[in-house]
Amino acid sequence: MSTTEPTWGERYAASLMNTFGPPKLVLVRGEGAHVWDADGQEYVDLLGGIAVNALGHGHPALVDAVTSQLQTLGHVSNFFTTVPQVELAEKLLDLLGVGAGGGKVFFTNSGTEANEAAFKLTRRTGRTHVVVAEGSFHGRTMGALALTSKEAYRAPFEPLPGDVTFVPYGDADALAAAVTDETAAVLLEPVQGEAGVVVPPEGYLAAARAVADEHGALLWLDEVQSGMGRTGRWFAHTQPESGVTPDVVTVAKGLGGGFPIGACIGIGAAGELLQPGNHGTTFGGNPVACAAALAVVRTIEDEDLLEHATVLGQKLRDGLAADPRVTEVRGEGLLIGLDLSAGVSAEVVAAAQEAGFIINNPTPHRIRLAPPLVLTEDDVNAFLASWPGILDSAMGEQAMGEQAMGEQA
Ligand SMILES: *Cc1c(COP(=O)(O)O)cnc(C)c1O
Repeated sequence: MSTTEPTWGERYAASLMNTFGPPKLVLVRGEGAHVWDADGQEYVDLLGGIAVNALGHGHPALVDAVTSQLQTLGHVSNFFTTVPQVELAEKLLDLLGVGAGGGKVFFTNSGTEANEAAFKLTRRTGRTHVVVAEGSFHGRTMGALALTSKEAYRAPFEPLPGDVTFVPYGDADALAAAVTDETAAVLLEPVQGEAGVVVPPEGYLAAARAVADEHGALLWLDEVQSGMGRTGRWFAHTQPESGVTPDVVTVAKGLGGGFPIGACIGIGAAGELLQPGNHGTTFGGNPVACAAALAVVRTIEDEDLLEHATVLGQKLRDGLAADPRVTEVRGEGLLIGLDLSAGVSAEVVAAAQEAGFIINNPTPHRIRLAPPLVLTEDDVNAFLASWPGILDSAMGEQAMGEQAMGEQA
């Protein structure tokens, strides 16, 4: 009998909703910053589950923490608390520099849920108006989507919760003009991730802090992608010189290192806005997720991964920028975006995969890297050695010529 077995791709298409398009690979195993597909092919993972796998794949500290917590106490309802939950809340407040008592944490399972909690928190000011940035991404649930700018994501689901004003990202004057005494909150990503790693001008967050203060509005920073060491600092907004103290910070992605967990953190008085009955969750803050996040934070500290991310990120940016087909490289630490001289980012991603590297294309001209913080120097050297060849096979001379002609037209 010679019936052909359906492939994983065919089985996926037959059984999963088509929200993501066809999967690029069927991945079966990971170790450090490397993953393997079902055919045994090895890849250097320079996307890290989109800034999630901070400790890479299979890190013993994360595996041990999850395993022993699940063996000890896997879930309780939120009528109770657990040791990892309290310890993680205290740890996050310490990392934000406010300490226990200087703020309050609400745990969730994802980034969009952290933002839903924060959105509801802003309503408790008695105001409804929120000012957000063009190019923003805050999640896919209805509330977070109302605060997300991309038309293609929003349009099919309107009407969304209203009273939202979009302003150009990085333009402090436009922000100042949009915020009024009716504004509940200004919501910004300190670095815009899904837009392709867009870094605002120096002083932008401080200007946002000032305008929010002037009108009694909350400053809410979405650090879901940029937080938890991704930029070489615990949070992208804690700049050595131009740092600000926000009222609300949301985190998720890297927090659990791959175990689902997010958090909405209210600093100072903002931590008191949600009161009993205002919000809830069944799974948010469960002890296994909190133990995972504690292991991530402690490992970043023990292995000095903030410094490691800073050094390797600089090396990656310098190497990527050396190719003339790369017109700009942005980002900090291991959150890196680059612009290509032609709109062939999908071809570049495909050529990189062919060469054994997983990267991502948030827009047609832009490539994003968000590798595990445990990426090694050998991984970086291997990618930089392959980079010109990847661009050759994706772009070649022809693509450059077409782009030049397109720009003249
Ligand atoms: C990914 C992301 C979210 C949404 O997180 P999910 O866990 O996918 O819900 C929100 N904000 C930012 C900045 C993100 O990058």
